[in-house]
Amino acid sequence: MFEYAPAPESRSVVDLKPTYGLFIDGTFVDPTDGGSFKSINPASEEVLAEVAEAGTQDVERAVRAARKAYDKVWGPMPGRDRAKYLFRIARLIQERSRELAVLESLDNGKPIKESRDVDLPLVAAHFFYYAGWADKLEHAGFGADPKPIGVAAQVIPWNFPLLMLAWKIAPALAAGNTVVLKPAETTPLTALLFAEICQQAELPAGVVNIITGAGDTGRTLVEHPDVDKVAFTGSTDVGRAIARSVAGTRKKLTLELGGKAANIVFDDAPIDQAVEGIVNGIFFNQGHVCCAGSRLLVQENVADRVLESLKRRMAHLRVGDPLDKNTDIGAINSAAQLERIRELSDAGSAEGAERWSPPCDLPDRGFWFAPTIFTGVTQAHRIAREEIFGPVLSVLTFRTPAEAVEKANNTPYGLSAGIWTDKGSRILWMADRLRAGVVWANTFNKFDPTSPFGGYKESGYGREGGRHGLEGYLNV
Ligand code: NAD
Repeated sequence: MFEYAPAPESRSVVDLKPTYGLFIDGTFVDPTDGGSFKSINPASEEVLAEVAEAGTQDVERAVRAARKAYDKVWGPMPGRDRAKYLFRIARLIQERSRELAVLESLDNGKPIKESRDVDLPLVAAHFFYYAGWADKLEHAGFGADPKPIGVAAQVIPWNFPLLMLAWKIAPALAAGNTVVLKPAETTPLTALLFAEICQQAELPAGVVNIITGAGDTGRTLVEHPDVDKVAFTGSTDVGRAIARSVAGTRKKLTLELGGKAANIVFDDAPIDQAVEGIVNGIFFNQGHVCCAGSRLLVQENVADRVLESLKRRMAHLRVGDPLDKNTDIGAINSAAQLERIRELSDAGSAEGAERWSPPCDLPDRGFWFAPTIFTGVTQAHRIAREEIFGPVLSVLTFRTPAEAVEKANNTPYGLSAGIWTDKGSRILWMADRLRAGVVWANTFNKFDPTSPFGGYKESGYGREGGRHGLEGYLNV
């Protein structure tokens, strides 16, 4: 293990308020019939702020504000003018990116080097990209004069709080819709800072409304009768419940749900590069990634070599303070998520897989889980089938490309996959057969606003990003 002096990012760039209200109709308001909850720093268990919990009347107020803004301001506004607001928001995000990154790491637990160098640049890029579409919708391939849908109810998870917000809000506004967004209950703070940015950009009141709260608030929002579109990212179970509640209504629905991606390493792959890809695939963002490469499929004749190299690499991963610029793996987002990871990992051991973690000192306070791999895993094991959403990798082996495809597809999910091989023809052969929305070759976890992202099977339907991402927000 390398020893480094601590290099903490300054917290002073963030101006945390003790309490936060709901952002409705352009201003921060107290809840009428809701309550409040605490948002905590998962790395220290420190309470960061008391946040308003929206009740039924608050959801009503937010939807009404979004409807009024849609009818009177945003719907009739020419695309070129909507674009100006989106560009302004994108630039403000860049200007305030340090503040947003530090707050994201405080509230979520992700390493600052990721929030600063991955999340925030992508968030700004998303707003820039969709700003460019706002006055060109007739060229998006959805008809000569595509129209917005109306009011969008958007519910997002905690793993990429600001990035998921950008994936939802940027295309919705570009297409001419107004939104009511509910961030996850463990990570509401950057969405509320984004609300301030909307004020700073002088976005017309009611175009973006942010209501905080837990599952009940989310359910009330998606079930509201005056909502025209529901966009949900989160777990497959909740996605299923939402699909049931929306069925039979006129609401349009897109779902981005869970995943259990295979990262497939062939014997001709550049092994060192593949090992970096495996590490990035499962330990990026503590494995709290829907498209995480949580199942390593390695060709049997190189399995020992790959595992030896992987273990050596894992021994150099630094787990600890998310605000330390040297940190590779930050905190698990919540006590509840830590419990889920522990339970599934214990099941892996109980079912006979072999568990390994490098020596790793974990901080005393906060929620932590050492990077872990399981070898000797079979298809029947729960750790091979269920989404773990943590820094835990299951390792399986294969002999032939056909066996790799069969094992990779043997999952109810279908979000992403990775292939590591020297042969271009094999990449194409595999990509044709893998039932996954995204297939990366000799890389992993690469995102770009121009590229559509989404799932097959129980990973959901609809696409976010790219031209395709506009479709869910247009009447086509
Ligand atoms: P979750 O489903 O528990 O919660 C997601 C959001 O839904 C939260 O804001 C929550 O408050 C809200 N919610 C809970 N119950 C609700 C209900 N009945 N009605 C409406 N809203 C409700 O998921 P999570 O644990 O926060 O997130 C992790 C999951 O998200 C993982 O399964 C992960 O794979 C998935 N995810 C998918 C993508 C993707 O693009 N496919 C991206 C990120 C995360």
